[in-house]
Amino acid sequence: MVCATVKKGQECTFMSKKGCTFNGGSCYQIVDQCKGCNHVTEFSSGWYCTAYPDPSAKWRNGNCNFATHLKQETKNRNNKTNPLKASKRNFR
Ligand code: SF4
Repeated sequence: MVCATVKKGQECTFMSKKGCTFNGGSCYQIVDQCKGCNHVTEFSSGWYCTAYPDPSAKWRNGNCNFATHLKQETKNRNNKTNPLKASKRNFR
């Protein structure tokens, strides 16, 4: 259903005929770590995440897995080669 609380006009799975069914009855605003993420959207009620209703919970145990602004960092980390493995490869 379409949200009628803090993200008015946004389609949401937590919205029901009885109102918002999410913990506390509405979404929570973004946290500092969210700044730069493409899911951050401004609504008349404040800044919210369009992917998850409680951003602070997403960051509680490490990086948010929905974050778009961390992909570059992850990609660079994956491109690094292990020098020990690379040297072994050269001996074959
Ligand atoms: S996807 Fe994660 S990092 Fe991005 S706004 Fe939502 S909670 Fe914050």
